[in-house]
Amino acid sequence: MSYLLIRIKDVVCLVCLLSLATDVGFMQSLSKTTHTLNLGEEKVWVDIYERTGADITLLNLHDNENTSAETGRAFVERHGGRLIELRHGRGREVVVRLDGVLHRFDPNRMFSDVGLRKSLEYFHNNTDEIFVIAAAFRDRVIELFAVQEGMVVIALHNNTPDKLTIKDFRPGEWYGEDTREVSINPQQDTDNFFVVTQVELFNALSSSGYNVALRAKSPPDRGMLIDYCQRLGALCITVEAEHGHRVEQKEMLEALWKILTEKGIVTTYD
Ligand SMILES: [Zn+2]
Repeated sequence: MSYLLIRIKDVVCLVCLLSLATDVGFMQSLSKTTHTLNLGEEKVWVDIYERTGADITLLNLHDNENTSAETGRAFVERHGGRLIELRHGRGREVVVRLDGVLHRFDPNRMFSDVGLRKSLEYFHNNTDEIFVIAAAFRDRVIELFAVQEGMVVIALHNNTPDKLTIKDFRPGEWYGEDTREVSINPQQDTDNFFVVTQVELFNALSSSGYNVALRAKSPPDRGMLIDYCQRLGALCITVEAEHGHRVEQKEMLEALWKILTEKGIVTTYD
């Protein structure tokens, strides 16, 4: 009997060791899964990079914002987590292609029906047929994204110099009504900034010298990812840096990471 128990223990131990070895092996590599989504005759590839280590999701919605994609992949390699990247080669917006004709919309405006309609309208594409195709694509992205209450999400973006800056979040400016409070550091490039929904993060980032906008509690419905996350009880932080500002965006992400881990907002496991 005792011999049998020892053997059982040995087997259990072996199983433990094997699972430990598998975990360690998995931790060291970044896995990539690609999903192919259709938008009429158009294809969009959704790449998901994953590594164990941190309970965090990064998103690169605009395909031409390559600095964000590179910075995000490097971040997941360093700390773990998940990066979701949309890829289609059409530039910033995604395209519904019907009979060879391209109908654009902004994927960061698709997270509500109102926002998606407005974006299609903006690009003169608001027909019911295109809306249905775009909404089905949106629903599939949401399914892959799988936002849940308590999740921490980082939306990575790049902007063209002086086109969208932290100054646009001041009262009376383009995103003035979206914003509760704005902190601008004159020493920082105005193209590099954070958008947050939590006062705690606003204070931490602004006192660290970063440009940061605190999103309004009830902003206009633009169909943005940050508001979609907020509705589901997930925390979303936007990190905007100028195209090509790799060093700055990496440094911003690391500063955010430090705050998120020190405050216990992100769970890490090794
Ligand atoms: Zn963007």
